[in-house]
Amino acid sequence: MIGIIGGTGLYGLEGFTLEKEEHPETPWGKASDPIRLGTIETEKGKVKLAFLSRHGAGHRILPSEIPQKANLASLKMLGVKRIIAFSAVGSLKEEIAPGHFAVPNQIIDRTRHREDTFFGDGVVAHVSFGDPFCPDLNHVSVNAISKCNIPCHEKETLVCMEGPAFSTRAESKLYKSWGAGLINMSVLPEAKLARELEICYQMICMSTDYDSWRESEEAVTAEEIMKIVKQNSENAIKVLQAMLPHLAEIQEKECSCHHALQFSIITAPEKRKQETVQKLHTVLPKYF
Ligand SMILES: [Zn+2]
Repeated sequence: MIGIIGGTGLYGLEGFTLEKEEHPETPWGKASDPIRLGTIETEKGKVKLAFLSRHGAGHRILPSEIPQKANLASLKMLGVKRIIAFSAVGSLKEEIAPGHFAVPNQIIDRTRHREDTFFGDGVVAHVSFGDPFCPDLNHVSVNAISKCNIPCHEKETLVCMEGPAFSTRAESKLYKSWGAGLINMSVLPEAKLARELEICYQMICMSTDYDSWRESEEAVTAEEIMKIVKQNSENAIKVLQAMLPHLAEIQEKECSCHHALQFSIITAPEKRKQETVQKLHTVLPKYF
């Protein structure tokens, strides 16, 4: 099953047959919103989809408040093996104009208040995160965006800031000087938790504004951003439709993401705290 994490605009996907909604109780609470399960026919076969609205219906959850562990655990418990996540982002480069899409391959973490691991409390594990996105999904995403004739930027670095206020000009210039191209508040810990659960994950970034590094521009306002968000949502649906036949093709394929924990769990089995092991069993029965 393919998981789609996004905001509004994606439920109207043409040909999507909604079968049921699930809102499972996980050891980390409930997801931001009920998850919509259904199928869509493509020329390469049927694809099962699970939609989750990251900020909840009506956009009522701040990035720092998203129950990320519950979101990822719910998707995993429902059988999701791959996730395509959509996010509105600020651009740190002149050439990434508002309305352009980007497929990042790196992340810089500037979050401060978020729980970002399923481990700890008696079970230690360290997953590899050198390449934080799935190589297969990265490839499929770039191809689908290009096919839709939407300007697409690849191999960009995405800064994840805490928010909810946007960057100061000094911060924005600092991130730009690091060579980063994009900034948002959503990719972490989402991408990290997906890796810990051995789920393939790629974020598709939809540029809405130039953050605040440009001296010639007024500092960014939420109002400016909302205007372009609507156009981006319409394009996100097109991209997803272009991508589905390719996702159908790779859905049985194994990926290195599916073995991320194979050599990562450090704690000796007899020393693991049983309460934590029981929690982890719900999402990682292969190991716990
Ligand atoms: Zn993968």
